[in-house]
Order: sequence, then structure tokens, then C-alpha cells
Amino acid sequence: MIEYENLGKVNQPFFEKYKKDFADTLEKGWYILGDRVKKFENEFASYIGTKHCTGVASGLDALLLSLKALNPEKDSEIITPSNTYIATILSIIQAGLKPVLVEPDIRSYNIDPTRIEEKITSKTKALMIVHLFGRSCDMDPIMELCRKHNLSLIEDCAQSHGAKYKGRTTGTFGELGAFSFYPTKNLGALGDAGAVITNSDEINTIIRRLRNYGSDIKYYNEIAGYNSRLDEVQAGFLSIKLKNLDEINSHKRKLANIYFNELKNDFIKPLKDDDHFDVYHIFNIRHERRDKLKEYLLKNEIKTDIHYPVPPHKQKAMQGIITDTNFPISEEIHKTTLSLPISYFHTEKDIYKVISVLNKF
Ligand SMILES: *Cc1c(COP(=O)(O)O)cnc(C)c1O
Repeated sequence: MIEYENLGKVNQPFFEKYKKDFADTLEKGWYILGDRVKKFENEFASYIGTKHCTGVASGLDALLLSLKALNPEKDSEIITPSNTYIATILSIIQAGLKPVLVEPDIRSYNIDPTRIEEKITSKTKALMIVHLFGRSCDMDPIMELCRKHNLSLIEDCAQSHGAKYKGRTTGTFGELGAFSFYPTKNLGALGDAGAVITNSDEINTIIRRLRNYGSDIKYYNEIAGYNSRLDEVQAGFLSIKLKNLDEINSHKRKLANIYFNELKNDFIKPLKDDDHFDVYHIFNIRHERRDKLKEYLLKNEIKTDIHYPVPPHKQKAMQGIITDTNFPISEEIHKTTLSLPISYFHTEKDIYKVISVLNKF
């Protein structure tokens, strides 16, 4: 059986280092906001090439705190793609703001810049874009729109650790970049974790307050904040894994290249071009008979996944919240997309096996 994902196997190369680091944290007895969090924040900021990084409890919180830091007026509208993972939209709702969905480009799966302007109103405060599946959005037209309409930009980088657009790393285009280190992400912890990056001293001060009860000095509260801190234990694991993030990304890129070269053209493959350095958090194909294809692969001992089976506007939880329901491109993607094995533990041989079965469909 070729598994879709196996986190034990993904982390296996780091077991010895993790065990030593955990033992050290355990014995040291400092578990919240200590040296390890500080160290990881500095390392991650330097890896991405940004001034500040603040560790938080999850990717969702990274997005929520980013929105809170911009302090938009109540009822402000935030533009985000209609095919994103639900967390992006939930962060907007939890911040008390209104999500306005824009259809993706059917080829790149990222927000279609040509469809953004028609959704901008006097209430629009920010774009919250998502670099889906490990591919950067089309940043030139997006930056141009932000300038033209004086909009803030938040980047959801939960799937794009290390992905680049024209040589520039995702997360560095907007005022804020929000990362998730959920275990399956390219840089994954052993539990929930996230981070917010920014080049602004001012924004960073607010993010650090927000994650720790609105406080700079213990027991003195400047604003009404949250409890959203990155744990010392997770920060220790993340520092160890970060040293291998480039290696993880290049492994996934190597496997993706095999799919690109060997997979027959009956399947719609992702885009690939020189402007984008993609890190393949997910490698998806599309096919008219997606469900049959998934079943066929499973019969042949290959597990796949679907990102995502139900678009946000069709989720029960979004009834009455997302009232616009005309998203045919999203629906087409959700109906036809299939995610193929592309984890750090997969070998080239695994991928050739998947391809040989796929090409017989
Ligand atoms: C994983 C993910 C999130 C949420 O991250 P958590 O750490 O699970 O809260 C947000 N946005 C996108 C696009 C994601 O893939």
C-alpha cells in the first residue's frame, strides 16, 4: 500500500534530535515563551527574509491575529478566494469582519486577480490571499490592486513555506504573512503551531501583545488579547526541522517533476513556470471521473486525498454567512481535484508506481 501521508515516517529522520531536545526542555522546566520560541522566531524570520516573526498557537490564530492587528472598522470586508480551506474564512468571521469570496483561476487554483476589482467596495479593507497547494499567487497584479485601492494585504502561507514568486518568498509581499505548522504542512510541528511575520515594528508589537493576553509586561494589559502562544516544546522541534525545510521542499519538487514528466495528459496537471518556485504542499490533478479514479487507485493499493471535497460556500456552517453562492469555478475544482502522494517519506519508486497505475486508467 502506498499511503497518502504518514507523519511518523515524515518525522522519523528527526527522532533522535527531537528526543534530545524534548528531554532538554522537559528538564529545564520553562515551557511557555522562553528561549526556544525566541530562537525559532529569529530563525524563521531569517529563513523567510523578514524583520519579525511571532510564534502563535495555530495557523487559524495567525490569520485572526493578523486581521486584529490591522484593526479594521467593524463590518469591513475582506476579500479571499472562494476555494480556500475553511480556516481562512473562519478567521475573517472570528475577527467580526465580512468575508467576500472571489473565484480562483481554474489553472492555478489561486485567486484570479482579474476578478478581484469587481468585488471591491468602499468597505473593503484588505485582501487575504492564499498561496494554495504550495504555489504563490500571481503577485504583480495583486500588489497593483492593493496600491490602486489602498488595501492591506495578508498572505495565508499555511501551504507555502519557502514558495517564491519571481524570486521573492511568499509572506513578504503583504503587511502580514500567516503560517501554520500543523503536522502535515511542509514545515510541520508535532502538534498545533503557527506564526505571523511582518516587516513592521508597529504591527509586530501588536501581534506580540495579542498572542499573550494583550500584555507587554506581565499582569499589565494594554489591549484585550488572546491566549495564542507557541509552546517551547513545539518551537524546539520546529527549529530542528527548519534546518531541513529546503531539503523537504526540494524532495517534494523532485517528486512533482516525475509526475510532470511521466503522467499522461488525460489528467490536468498543475501549472509550472519560471516565475514560480512551487513547494507542492499538495500535488493535485484534475479529472472528470475523479471519484472513479480515486476508487481505482485505492483498489490498486494507492491512497489519495481530496483538497477539498466541499467548497466553503456549500458548507453547512456557512449558511447565512456566505450568501453569494455563485462560484462555478470553485465547484468545478472541488468536483474534479485529486491529491496524489507527495510526502517527504515517499521515494521516487513510490511515485513511479503511482504513475504506472494512473496511466492505465
Ligand atoms: C492548514 C491551513 C490553515 C489553518 O492552519 P491550522 O494550523 O490548522 O490552524 C489555514 N489556511 C490554510 C490554507 C491551511 O491550509
